[in-house]
Amino acid sequence: MIEPITIQDNEEYLRQVSKEVNIHDKNLKYEIELLGKFCKEHDVMAMAAVQIGIPKRIIYLKNTDIDIINRMQRDEQSVEDKLYNEGRVLINPIIIERYGLTEYWEACASCLNFCGKVKRPYLMKVNYIDENYDVQEEWFEGFEATVLSHELDHLDGVLHMDVADEVIYMPLSERKLLRQKEGYKIIQKDDPYEELLNKYKEKVRVKK
Ligand SMILES: [Zn+2]
Repeated sequence: MIEPITIQDNEEYLRQVSKEVNIHDKNLKYEIELLGKFCKEHDVMAMAAVQIGIPKRIIYLKNTDIDIINRMQRDEQSVEDKLYNEGRVLINPIIIERYGLTEYWEACASCLNFCGKVKRPYLMKVNYIDENYDVQEEWFEGFEATVLSHELDHLDGVLHMDVADEVIYMPLSERKLLRQKEGYKIIQKDDPYEELLNKYKEKVRVKK
């Protein structure tokens, strides 16, 4: 069985910048399969390849449906919910544009029980290569943009704890309760993400 690498096992490994994928690499198909298999067998929303020991720019999205995620926090998942698998692969993804601002209490298969309140874009335009090796340009919106943004950070060795406003160590049961209370917040949808984030940070500084 494949296990994720955690910050306890090897934080330095998780901190590396993943290498760009050569689509002619003969191991690529196997590595994508391995990542997909891991996601299917574990309770994760998505995963970057580096988290299971493949430091290449590959992301697997498994479940970014906020309704299913919300039911999961209340332990009300249906059988269909549990089987749901978005099963999308993004190779060499590059962010083109980012808009809006959202907030969610994130966790990570690599970061033990460290939970962080993170601001992410609401809307993201991303270029990537799909699993048929076709080039795609796609808009990701809402919770899907949050999950993808978390995974994109992994490719550059950045963990959610690094970019969080607040980090709390809490077990899964407490995290579920906190998420039920706080949920997924959309703060703004339209303005450039960097501008909104800077404005927010400025406000926090003034308050302090
Ligand atoms: Zn993660």
